Amino acid sequence: MRPFFLRSAQNAPPDPGACPRCDLTLNIKRHGYLRGKGVDAIGVIRGMRFYCSKRDSNRGCGATFSILYAQHLPGYSVGADELMRLIRGVTGGASVHLAWRNASSFFSLTSAYRWVRSFTANLARIRPMLHQADDPAANSPHSLVRLTLHALEKLPGAAGEGGFVAAFQHHFQRAFLRPPASSCYS
Ligand SMILES: [Zn+2]
Repeated sequence: MRPFFLRSAQNAPPDPGACPRCDLTLNIKRHGYLRGKGVDAIGVIRGMRFYCSKRDSNRGCGATFSILYAQHLPGYSVGADELMRLIRGVTGGASVHLAWRNASSFFSLTSAYRWVRSFTANLARIRPMLHQADDPAANSPHSLVRLTLHALEKLPGAAGEGGFVAAFQHHFQRAFLRPPASSCYS
């Protein structure tokens, strides 16, 4: 399976695997960077783009696809670090308003409420994945959210850039938040 998330911009160019459209691996070429907005509305590099080349003697299909850096969330402008600070604040008992003020000055309170709702709605999806990476001794009488956070904090690389949000995306090769239906990420 091809990778969907890279750990960081410092990584060597990855093996992009097979083309998602034609399944061939031989014709894949680098195709620049995937750019988009960050929370501060300044353009940032969100990942690498690839091209299944049909030029010259290549026999690819012409499809382009991208692999995201794990510190960005598909379909969301919020970065992994800001989202993690927000989630930590709220699960630590702070109101969304207070957690938002402590997490970043770049996004709106309305966005903070929306992302916390997305995280909560997302719990049933990520819990089963984390259960495999978790240790069974963590069965203490915490709330579901606290248990999830505990498992997230223990993921490999959770102390690095992008925190447990980036660590989750890299470890499971899945988006941390379910991308909005309107977004298109191939
Ligand atoms: Zn192809």
